[in-house]
Amino acid sequence: MAAAVCAVWGVEAGLSEYSLRSKAGFAYVHHAAGEPFVPRGDHANELLVGSNPDEARADCQWLRADFDAFVFGQACQAGVICFEEAAIESLQRADSHGCGGFKAAWRVAGDGDNQRFVIDADFMVDATGAGILSRTLDIPHDLSGIRTCSRTLYSHFEGVRPWRDICTTPAYSTTDHPFPIDDATLHHVFDGGWMWVIRFDNGITSAGLCLEPDTFPLDESIGAADEWNALMARFPSIREQFAAARPVLPFARTGRLQRNVARAAGKSWAMLPTTAGFIDAFFSTGNAHTLLGVIRLADILTQTNPGPDRDRRLADYDRLIRREIETIDRLVHGCYRSFKDMNVLSAYSMLYFLAATYSEERLRSGASAMDTGFLLADDDSFQKIVREFHARMGDGWPVAQGCDIEKTSLLRMLKDQAAAYNVAGLCDEGKRNMYPYSVA
Ligand SMILES: Cc1cc2nc3c(=O)[nH]c(=O)nc-3n(C[C@H](O)[C@H](O)[C@H](O)COP(=O)(O)OP(=O)(O)OC[C@H]3O[C@@H](n4cnc5c(N)ncnc54)[C@H](O)[C@@H]3O)c2cc1C
Repeated sequence: MAAAVCAVWGVEAGLSEYSLRSKAGFAYVHHAAGEPFVPRGDHANELLVGSNPDEARADCQWLRADFDAFVFGQACQAGVICFEEAAIESLQRADSHGCGGFKAAWRVAGDGDNQRFVIDADFMVDATGAGILSRTLDIPHDLSGIRTCSRTLYSHFEGVRPWRDICTTPAYSTTDHPFPIDDATLHHVFDGGWMWVIRFDNGITSAGLCLEPDTFPLDESIGAADEWNALMARFPSIREQFAAARPVLPFARTGRLQRNVARAAGKSWAMLPTTAGFIDAFFSTGNAHTLLGVIRLADILTQTNPGPDRDRRLADYDRLIRREIETIDRLVHGCYRSFKDMNVLSAYSMLYFLAATYSEERLRSGASAMDTGFLLADDDSFQKIVREFHARMGDGWPVAQGCDIEKTSLLRMLKDQAAAYNVAGLCDEGKRNMYPYSVA
């Protein structure tokens, strides 16, 4: 066999100056179209949630090309046969092609490093994000159960002003923010969508919009840059933050982001989580989910031989990914339903923070393993709570009522029902939407 393990490096990858910044947490600020953001002393239109116990165990904001380069470098150092600038031209499965003249389960052929490669392998992992395996195996995408519907428009910029300069007024300061707001992933939220603003330490800021097509239909006759400018004009304070910003990459614009294959693993093959499905970037779940998939597959492939035991574990992997995608969908979709009203968003989003802090603390303490579900996807009690609260987020409730009583009752209900998972003092009205990372 030519190679037991190989990695191909897609055309999007590029090396740039190493850039990484610790991420203090998640910050959300609410905007109404046509109105400037006016900070409030009670923080009712902001939510800040810390995500790090300390600097040494901090989440990071990675410039994507650097993150990819780092991971790819690790693979090369570990002895993986690597091809850069690779393009796969064909993928064949032996048992579905009458052996096709090769003895292994798979044959993959393509170009990389300016040379042609042909590799036979007993196991195939699809990490393309694009679904080369699903096309080869004719596995359909199934979006019937996916509720989130969003598209995206984004670029990288120079000259983005720090949000603290915009959100500070003579009557209001940021002194009770639990961390500098610009050290967090900043989310501007508004009815029908949201925008991320992520500052790296090299002067570059990643910024992009995720938009519900019902409210912001894609109009191909308008260029991506023009659409960006029109959206900036709609939200005066965001426009102010980006007044001197200059894109350093062409704008990228997509159709619907959501993908979900009907099956993520089988005999002699598996897809990484993001290849199997993707919902939305609202809680920045993508890379963590993908890395969990890498760890689980590495465990399956090193701990089992081909046969019934491996097949059973691959079936478990498939089921778990499906539940995880469903969980992310409920968490994110409920937030989209609440974007009209920050009170509701600051209560509903607690479901994500409960799941993230509880499961991360259990992983850190060794109380759970990597094959437990991402965001408590395999915890039936927690999932019951997610389903119940998501069901409340149907159109009209509680958004239409949009009052503090609803937010308060939502938060109190969640605090009561999810008490067993609340290791970080979440769902606390007394904190007025300002949550430092504090694990009891
Ligand atoms: C708008 C948006 C914002 C996001 N924001 C975040 C965030 O803030 N935090 C986070 O954690 N995640 C985020 N994600 C998710 C994150 O991007 C994905 O989880 C991550 O990219 C998955 O990594 P991957 O390597 O599995 O797939 P990909 O990043 O899709 O990489 C696949 C690679 O395979 C290559 N490839 C594809 N086909 C071929 C072929 N035929 N031959 C050779 N190479 C091929 C591609 O060129 C690419 O380099 C975001 C996603 C989107 C869409």
